[in-house]
Amino acid sequence: MADPLWRFRILLESAAEPGLVPVSVPASASPGEVAEALEAMFAAEPELTRVNLEVDDQVLGTTGRAVLARLRERSQEAARGDPGAGDGATLPGLSTAYVVLRFRCPSCAAERRLLFVDDTPTCPNGHGAMERVR
Ligand SMILES: [Zn+2]
Repeated sequence: MADPLWRFRILLESAAEPGLVPVSVPASASPGEVAEALEAMFAAEPELTRVNLEVDDQVLGTTGRAVLARLRERSQEAARGDPGAGDGATLPGLSTAYVVLRFRCPSCAAERRLLFVDDTPTCPNGHGAMERVR
């Protein structure tokens, strides 16, 4: 049987060093949406190179800048190969609609990043609600 989360495998690194920061996404998101949001996150946080990808609280593995760059290259090549896709200068479907929000515990160093937040995350060390980092 197909694992419903299998489609996210394209986002994962094969030889993974542990990611330091968990990023949680819902299984309802598409891998493309997640890739866009992660790219925007990496662009906004130069010190970040690798994160743990969690889908519906299940840790799938790590993803990083190199994987996303390869995906983007491939999708641009695919777009160039399609006569309906224009000049390939812009990615079809690229948007800023998907944003990874960053939360930090006010009492310790714990951080979480979430896509499509519907609830405030709580500190894994029992400090209660985390605060949004802007
Ligand atoms: Zn804490």
